Amino acid sequence: SAQEQPPQICVVGSGPAGFYTAQHLLKHHAQARVDIYEKQLVPFGLVRFGVAPDHPEVKNVTHTFTQTARSDRCAFHGNVVVGRDVTVPELREAYHAVVLSYGAEDHRALGIPGEELPGVFSARAFVGWYNGLPENRELAPDLSCDTAMILGHGNVALDVARILLTPPEQLEKTDITEASLGILRQSRVKTVWIVGRRGPLQVAFTIKMPRPRKRLTELLLRTATEKPEREEAARRAEASRAWGLRFLRSPQQVLPSPDGQRVAGIRLAVTRLEGVGETAWAVPTGDTEDLPCGLVLSSVGYKSRPIDPSVPFDPKLGVIPNTEGRVVDVPGLYCSGWVKRGPTGVIATTMTDSFLTSQALLQDLEAGLLPAGPRPGHAAIEALLSSRGVRPISFSDWEKLDATEVSRGQRTGKPREKLLDPQEMLRLLGR
Ligand code: FAD
Repeated sequence: SAQEQPPQICVVGSGPAGFYTAQHLLKHHAQARVDIYEKQLVPFGLVRFGVAPDHPEVKNVTHTFTQTARSDRCAFHGNVVVGRDVTVPELREAYHAVVLSYGAEDHRALGIPGEELPGVFSARAFVGWYNGLPENRELAPDLSCDTAMILGHGNVALDVARILLTPPEQLEKTDITEASLGILRQSRVKTVWIVGRRGPLQVAFTIKMPRPRKRLTELLLRTATEKPEREEAARRAEASRAWGLRFLRSPQQVLPSPDGQRVAGIRLAVTRLEGVGETAWAVPTGDTEDLPCGLVLSSVGYKSRPIDPSVPFDPKLGVIPNTEGRVVDVPGLYCSGWVKRGPTGVIATTMTDSFLTSQALLQDLEAGLLPAGPRPGHAAIEALLSSRGVRPISFSDWEKLDATEVSRGQRTGKPREKLLDPQEMLRLLGR
């Protein structure tokens, strides 16, 4: 049976879900071998390309992931796009079990007129730009306007607002890319509005506290109603930049400039709440409000893509249908992280849910529900990839790129200067 010879397992995606799933499998099965396939050249998913540069402590999880990747029963294979370079059925053939942990790479569209105007970006692309995601490195947003509008009341909206408002001197010591820093230094944005269609009790910001909703509401209330002390009041009066939350407003149309060439404002539908508490929903009152702005960042959520026609996908929820991480109707196929639960929750939530998926997989292995007999694992996939001209990046390749980034950062006092160009990365690896 599968238990008598080392189970060969593969994980698709090297974000927190992929790495926490691998970590749990290796820890709780002494023989299991885990291969991690990743489409980017580099590992760590949104820890590298999502988490804000001014939150370096959050990125410490990569130390644990590095320990996992260095295990002699684990291997990282970057530069492999599953669904294109290799299919899920091919992986299922080569391994006893496959775990899909490929996150949520799309953004939810606003679906309103004017969304395609220059000056409108998804927060996802904007975040990718300042964090060095190769596909967004050319974004170069025009920050010559006075007012930016961020649509959506979640943590990503706050990250984006902070990056727009923080004095560039403070960002210089982070791993934000030098190119985006250059544009932020020229920024003329003075006012940032963060707009949400519901009220203060429904915002999706999170804080690290017991009873977070109560503490968050108290914090919002205190900030809105308390008169600041003299010193603080003076500081605020002198501030060159300001931001605010706008509640009960839903985007209706992005308004073009007179020449129709770019965004000049936004029309918001005024809403009121029906129902109570966190689940209350917004309905339009019929009134609207127009606000001038030169930049619109839509931050209304991420969305997973279907990876392969053989894998069930719920287009409405944007997740792979599963029970406790077991993909429905496909034995031996599992999922974890944002593609399993939907694109909400912090790294700690993703960790818990990845451990649960791993547990389900190990139970199935124990119960003899996975294919019996040996499986070739990476050897078979390596041959397929090589026949298709795909050359994976190993973890030690990444460690070389990592060392280059760190040493380039040292010159300017940054933790690292990220490499943005896949071609340059390959050149550095002698390819
Ligand atoms: P991801 O991290 O997205 O990893 C998925 C991986 O799969 C990626 O590496 C991707 O390249 C790869 N992949 C995709 N498609 C394929 C394919 N076809 N083949 C192979 N590989 C593929 N949480 C916190 O706790 N603190 C924070 O400060 C914080 N900040 C955040 C900021 C932003 C902007 C965002 C979006 C999220 C933030 N989070 C934060 C949440 C955290 O990032 C997520 O909980 C977590 O990353 C989800 O993990 P995941 O592995 O499911 O997805």
